[in-house]
Amino acid sequence: MNYIASSKRYSDMAYRKCGGSGLFLPAISLGLWHNFGFIDSLENARQILKQAFDCGITHFDLANNYGPPPGSAEENFGKILKGEFGSYRDQMVISTKAGYGMWEGPYGNGGSKKYLSASLDQSLKRMGLNYVDIFYHHRPDPDTPIEETMTALDLFVRQGKALYVGISNYKPREAAQAIRILRELGTPCIIHQPRYSMFDRWVEGGLLDVLEENHVGCIPFSPLAQGLLSNKYLAGIPSESRAASHRGNGAIEEDQITQDRINKIRKLNVLAEARGQNLAQMALAWILKDKRITSVLIGVSKPEQVVDSIACLKNIIFTEDEIDEINVILE
Ligand code: NDP
Repeated sequence: MNYIASSKRYSDMAYRKCGGSGLFLPAISLGLWHNFGFIDSLENARQILKQAFDCGITHFDLANNYGPPPGSAEENFGKILKGEFGSYRDQMVISTKAGYGMWEGPYGNGGSKKYLSASLDQSLKRMGLNYVDIFYHHRPDPDTPIEETMTALDLFVRQGKALYVGISNYKPREAAQAIRILRELGTPCIIHQPRYSMFDRWVEGGLLDVLEENHVGCIPFSPLAQGLLSNKYLAGIPSESRAASHRGNGAIEEDQITQDRINKIRKLNVLAEARGQNLAQMALAWILKDKRITSVLIGVSKPEQVVDSIACLKNIIFTEDEIDEINVILE
């Protein structure tokens, strides 16, 4: 039987305008980097997507290499879309990316027009889509002129294969250059996707200023530092956690859960409880307190984590004392 989405799905979610564009994104978006590949349960992936959509999450973030194996998250997403979400396509914002190594030979990696064009065609086929809403260049490529990469993004919009374009992992100077070229081409860059969490604050060193000055939205990834910023690892490494699963493709490993991190997480956890939140909710709220953030990209391994994380929206305001206390803990 076809899935019927909850009629209340738009009532509790906040939607924020993405930079200077006309596109609204949910304050919380769902990423499919892990837990949606062929090594994962398709049924669990289906339940997560339904739960997310029922909670007002309209934005789903993919990339050519998500899985494992690479490509399998897009393929699974395509199956679920076709089976359950067909009638909701116009209520969904679907993004994908290319930039990291995807296939062998000189045309399966980087930022050339040759690679990006072939990759986007493959992504559309895997997902069974005619177009994606946002297509990103996944990372800057020093071996390709930035003009070529940006011209490729502009081309995809003109071809109707993407409605909007964005960049990911670009440093402030590279981002400013990409944004300027795209503006000159007539296809504005509407969004930047950087890593940002309490444990990784590099975007505060100039990137957020560049984005604000240029009216470009910001959608941080790994806001929980892959699950570290939750109460999950307080009493050891659970066997069902991402760190214990050795998934590869950049997933957190046990040796990254250091004693220093645990000490900080313990202190942050006490503060979160005093705010009436759990640590995951406080870590998400801490990012969303900044008006320059359009949406925060969560990853989940089970549907309950969607509901738990979204509850952060009940309190995204921090007192100056709380901000100071967090800064001291993170020093
Ligand atoms: P997070 O930092 O949110 O980590 C997700 C993990 O945190 C989950 O798998 C789960 O771990 C744990 N978790 C989630 N919610 C809760 C909760 N409420 N309570 C306790 N634990 C929780 O994000 P990701 O690292 O997954 O990144 C999110 C998305 O960002 C990706 O899916 C992708 O779309 C994007 N991304 C983009 C990149 C880029 O280069 N542009 C790079 C990386 C990610 P567990 O599995 O152990 O249960």
